[in-house]
Amino acid sequence: MFSFASSTRQLGRTQLFRTAARRCYATETAPKKPSNAPLYFMGAGVAGLGAYYYLNATGKSVITQEKSPLDPENFKDFKLKKIIPYNHNTSEFVFELPNNEASLLPVASCIVVKSSDPEALKDDKGKPIIRPYTPISPPEQQGELTLLVKKYDNGNASKHIHELKEGDTLSIKGPIPKFPYKANEFDEVALIGGGSGITPLYQLVTHALSNRSNRTKFTLLFSNVTEADILLKSEFEALKKKYPTKFDVIYILDKPPAGWTGPTGYISKELIQQHVAPPSLNEKVKVFVCGPPGQVAAVAGKKAGMKQGELGGALKELGYTEDQVYKF
Ligand SMILES: Cc1cc2nc3c(=O)[nH]c(=O)nc-3n(C[C@H](O)[C@H](O)[C@H](O)COP(=O)(O)OP(=O)(O)OC[C@H]3O[C@@H](n4cnc5c(N)ncnc54)[C@H](O)[C@@H]3O)c2cc1C
Repeated sequence: MFSFASSTRQLGRTQLFRTAARRCYATETAPKKPSNAPLYFMGAGVAGLGAYYYLNATGKSVITQEKSPLDPENFKDFKLKKIIPYNHNTSEFVFELPNNEASLLPVASCIVVKSSDPEALKDDKGKPIIRPYTPISPPEQQGELTLLVKKYDNGNASKHIHELKEGDTLSIKGPIPKFPYKANEFDEVALIGGGSGITPLYQLVTHALSNRSNRTKFTLLFSNVTEADILLKSEFEALKKKYPTKFDVIYILDKPPAGWTGPTGYISKELIQQHVAPPSLNEKVKVFVCGPPGQVAAVAGKKAGMKQGELGGALKELGYTEDQVYKF
């Protein structure tokens, strides 16, 4: 049975979310009155070699960490500290970062993973199977990196991760830079996601909204098969409550329960037209897309491996240009 899981998990993620919401940026003006509570600053470069600062009680900034414990060039093994079941097919996997360090992953970026045991996860040609994942823990979270992974019964990497036990390790490389998000570059941002493809969009929107100078309006169109499949719903509801003029979310279900009042079926042209700012906003509108390959193709055209691929699907038919769309 689906439940939004145990109170322990809820508390854990609420704490993570609060940490993210408290985040400040090196480009912002520091608060005039230093508080007794440490206030964290982070300025992470695309290569992940950021610095992690906090203001101490006298308002003086102190650098505590120069470098991410992750390596963008080489896989490193990280210990799985905790597994927190999320729903019928998804769990949170909390990896331990050494010396209580933070990952300092820049937004937007992801990591890639493979098995620590070269024999455990290979393709037909004997090559290691490698897949991208986007942590749901904020970059400055100390000592932990959390992945929210949905299990596909016929999947390779997701099945391997779900078979790991606490104490096992996973080989991780990163950050892999994605879109270099800049505060207030756009007036309107649409996030179109499906299933576990939500994590890159979650990373981007939590980062953007927690910037106190943010002026961009974000609209998330999030499609799932059933209500039980909606990931991070309580986090999105909390964001909506906290930033009512800057964030909105519309859930779309393929198999809605009785009494469901939201949209149903796939994400259509009409739904996009209804909720997404028009292409006539030119460089002031951006649409980020992440979801199952079929959905990405229908909404924005197929990706070409790691490359963006031609723009297609509903967004192209509605007149959006390649510059206005980014596929994760
Ligand atoms: C930037 C980025 C970030 C990602 N972050 C996450 C994350 O945080 N959590 C997470 O669970 N996944 C995430 N994914 C998806 C992840 O990389 C894998 O594609 C997914 O776990 C399936 O891999 P697999 O090896 O188990 O399945 P595969 O062996 O590759 O495929 C098995 C079956 O699953 C289907 N399939 C493959 N990928 C998907 C998909 N994304 N949706 C639906 N069906 C699919 C295939 O068509 C096939 O039928 C992300 C993907 C990208 C591009």
